[in-house]
Amino acid sequence: MSFEIAGVSALEIMDSRGRPTLNVTVTLADGTVAEAGVPSGASTGTREAVELRDGDKSRFGGAGVTQARDHVNQELNAGLCGRAWASLAEVDQAMRDLDGTPNKARLGANGIIGTSMAVARALAASAGLPLYAWLPGFGQAPRMPVPCFNVLNGGAHAPNPLDFQEFMISPLGAPSMAESVRAGAEVYAALRKRLAAAGHATGLGDEGGFAPDLAEPEEVLELIVAAITDAGYPVGTEGIAIALDPAASEFHQPDGSYRVNGKSFTSDDMIARYAAMADAFPIWSIEDGLGEADTEGWKKLTATLGDRLQLVGDDNFCTNPAIITEAIANGIANAALIKVNQIGTITETLEAMRICHEAGYGQMVSHRSGETPDTFIADLAVATGCGQIKTGAPARGERVAKYNRLIQIQAQDPDLPYGRI
Ligand code: PGA
Ligand code: ZN
Repeated sequence: MSFEIAGVSALEIMDSRGRPTLNVTVTLADGTVAEAGVPSGASTGTREAVELRDGDKSRFGGAGVTQARDHVNQELNAGLCGRAWASLAEVDQAMRDLDGTPNKARLGANGIIGTSMAVARALAASAGLPLYAWLPGFGQAPRMPVPCFNVLNGGAHAPNPLDFQEFMISPLGAPSMAESVRAGAEVYAALRKRLAAAGHATGLGDEGGFAPDLAEPEEVLELIVAAITDAGYPVGTEGIAIALDPAASEFHQPDGSYRVNGKSFTSDDMIARYAAMADAFPIWSIEDGLGEADTEGWKKLTATLGDRLQLVGDDNFCTNPAIITEAIANGIANAALIKVNQIGTITETLEAMRICHEAGYGQMVSHRSGETPDTFIADLAVATGCGQIKTGAPARGERVAKYNRLIQIQAQDPDLPYGRI
């Protein structure tokens, strides 16, 4: 079945941090209209597809996206309209060809991913299917993903002294999506009480987790375990377990050391510390435990802890099929974080996930720290059957939009199984 695109346009809108991003609207020749809001990261990998920002300091401190918007309105609109397309993959390839660079630097990955998302949504609507039922899979049956709720924020997402970026709770043992979200929200509330009782501030970081003035990761882990218990849930993989994203590239120093709470650590020290943490706390997954440039450290980390923990590559993988293929060959990590704007098209995102699947690597679909109420990633996680998603705290509109969408999908399709694969 072929289709035609009748119009592509973009607006400069606000993201959840008050920074500009794009909202893209696609109209098909059959009259279907669909939109997409583009996410934006703060602790980005150096090899991510290029998010085009104006750099004009007189607007939004240089963060404007009018050039990316104009490229959508002009070049992408002209290049995509008025011809027959066979698939989303064909449209995505045409955008890559129009851009002409290896990393979408000319037209901007922000405009390209927004267009790719909106085209996918339009095609689903035109076919009369919910997005999760329309998105093509690659051999993993659709399922409801375990949410990783980021309940405590540090690093580049909060102004506190905490170097580790994300402390997440995963209700691995929950019986359903709705019960999982309930568990996340109840532990979040229990954590707020614990923090307040200990005299800590309960203000929020960029992803909706609390951002108290704590500095040692182990102190945070103790509080979270206490909050899980306070809320009445079993601690561990049968109940609620903990996932970390230290985002170590952010505290990896030019001399190769890691600086955590004012002290220096080698790669080996960090690996030993993670092993000790996993002994003492119910940790099941660690993302970006070492810096993106620390290839030898990553190999050691994987060899040492890969059989007992999920080790997720984010900054070092950038959802890039070629980079992930090489990393798999080198024994680096055993799972990949999947962020659509890191690579810039839905087709390449699905390709990265397929490569992981075929190598036995896990895939965790992810939001960015800068978000809109767009819920595309909820459908993506369900459609691909990857079994895990992280999209912030069970608080703040742009985060709960994704969890609420998952609850809605489960209600529409109660037979979809819940849980990690
Ligand atoms: P970012 O952070 O969206 O700011 O890059 C998320 C992450 O590091 O996983
Ligand atoms: Zn990360």
